[in-house]
Amino acid sequence: MPTATTRIDLPSPAPGTRRTLLAHRYGQPGARPRAYLQAALHADEIPGLLVAQHLLLALERAQAEGRIRGEVVLVPVANPIGLNQNLNGRLLGRYDWESTVNFNRGFPDLAGAALERVRGRLGGDEAVNVARIRTALREALAELPAAGEAECLKHELLGLALDADLVLDLHCAGESLQHLYGSRWQTQETSALGAELGAAAVVLEGEPGGVCFDYACASPWWKLRQELAAEGPVPLACFAATVELRGQADVSDELACADAAALVRFLQRRGVLAGDPGPLPAPVCEATPLEGLEWVTAPVAGVVVYRRQLGERVEAGDLVAEIVDPLGEPLGAARTPVRCATSGVLFGRAIGRLVRPGQRICKVAGAEPLPARTRGRLLAD
Ligand SMILES: [Zn+2]
Repeated sequence: MPTATTRIDLPSPAPGTRRTLLAHRYGQPGARPRAYLQAALHADEIPGLLVAQHLLLALERAQAEGRIRGEVVLVPVANPIGLNQNLNGRLLGRYDWESTVNFNRGFPDLAGAALERVRGRLGGDEAVNVARIRTALREALAELPAAGEAECLKHELLGLALDADLVLDLHCAGESLQHLYGSRWQTQETSALGAELGAAAVVLEGEPGGVCFDYACASPWWKLRQELAAEGPVPLACFAATVELRGQADVSDELACADAAALVRFLQRRGVLAGDPGPLPAPVCEATPLEGLEWVTAPVAGVVVYRRQLGERVEAGDLVAEIVDPLGEPLGAARTPVRCATSGVLFGRAIGRLVRPGQRICKVAGAEPLPARTRGRLLAD
């Protein structure tokens, strides 16, 4: 049994309707390190829901055997609002229908408000500084107004994660190999998580734009460290990553069990759980910058036929796909080639096969920053 299960009621969006979050807590309340994990913030990304179930089995065993050293908070269904977005038999779940905002964008950026609270109050003791900053972040979040159901969902999820030493947000992509996003300020931790999972791409973010969940949790620390360097030591006390558990259809007990086992080993390595994780596997890939991640886009509308498979290394200028125009000429042979502009591993593709001009159809993890991706919002909406 968990140490506690917290039920958080979101505000009722309409008479007769109410949705609830469940947060399961394992280990001694307040013990460190604390890990926070959540699944399916994008509600149409189902692999995380199954991984969370396998994690719960592992945590139940660890709790029964007294192997939880720190504390683990697991939210197995992070977005009950999105899970209800079923339209003509198809689950949507990526955007809030009221605001049209992406459920994984627009989280509160608490760095500025926390900075005002702690400026002039830090000293030479790193642990004291961490405690003060955590208090300031909690207070800053509590002061922010939140009214709508989706806004309250974001506040509640961030509130659950804000005190954690480790935050893992479980997502997936359309058609994809496993990959993850973490902070470029925490390259070593992000790469270690990638090695543990066997991720095909490890993407490092600086300023991705849009305030996604991992950024909302981790970025206040490096911002405050920079701003308050003269006052005393500020460690990066929260490591947060977005784990993309392959593609939307990659849902099986075999994959979920293996992913949960890798996450358990990661928690063991970080001291949250007792036990020997064994040696860290050799990484599958080198980490690459978000600015080097190329989204190859469709130049025209039509039926996409991929010419390269997931996991293949491509070179700049390689043909990765063709777009077939069903009404074009010459009849039966109207095809537009699509080439990538960078070299790297092709690790993601769009799941739909009828594409529109400008639609992102392939993802390539390039090592070199691309000129078009040096600023602005670097993540897909
Ligand atoms: Zn997602």
